[in-house]
Amino acid sequence: MTEIIESYLEIERAKNTFFEELDFCSPNCIQKPFSNFKLSKRGRMLTLPGYVGCCPRDYFDSIMDTDSLRLEWIRLERKNKFGKPKNKDPKIPMIGRACGYHSRETGCRLTSYKQPICISYVCNELKEYVSNTFDIHLDPVVEGKRLEQLLIGELSKQEINNLIIQEWEHVAQVRAINGSSHYDRTLTSCVR
Ligand code: SF4
Ligand code: SF4
Repeated sequence: MTEIIESYLEIERAKNTFFEELDFCSPNCIQKPFSNFKLSKRGRMLTLPGYVGCCPRDYFDSIMDTDSLRLEWIRLERKNKFGKPKNKDPKIPMIGRACGYHSRETGCRLTSYKQPICISYVCNELKEYVSNTFDIHLDPVVEGKRLEQLLIGELSKQEINNLIIQEWEHVAQVRAINGSSHYDRTLTSCVR
């Protein structure tokens, strides 16, 4: 595995830990009968069941502006480790099925090898909460782009290190305010 992919997976680990420590999605969205949060200005997204959160489509299959061999490798590893996407959840009226890697019981089945968008995405409500509570200003579009640039090989070693440090600093900032982790994996879903 190349250093760049190792860095990508390290950032993913930090992001996963960050969302676990935040413990926002599960109580505020996923455990609700219907998601409280607008995922799209188009009305059809407003009626998503809570457990689906922000995974109503196959975002794992999103295409980057510039594809890369490293992303191809990540896709392959994903398939080797987690199998092909096969969502058996019931269909959601007007929308269809949630993401193929989504499971009603455990949310996203991927604990690693996610697509950049799946690693970086946060809805506006979560963005606002993180900003107001922890003074951390997330920008999922910019962060997703940075992950793409990382995979393409456009970032310097220093820039990559800075990204990793920043992600773990975010975890530390949340822990400093929230105390130790109160995260319960069995309760959550769609950790992004
Ligand atoms: S990021 Fe997704 S799962 Fe989390 S609160 Fe927002 S819509 Fe729900
Ligand atoms: S976070 Fe997981 S469940 Fe959600 S769209 Fe991405 S792969 Fe699918």
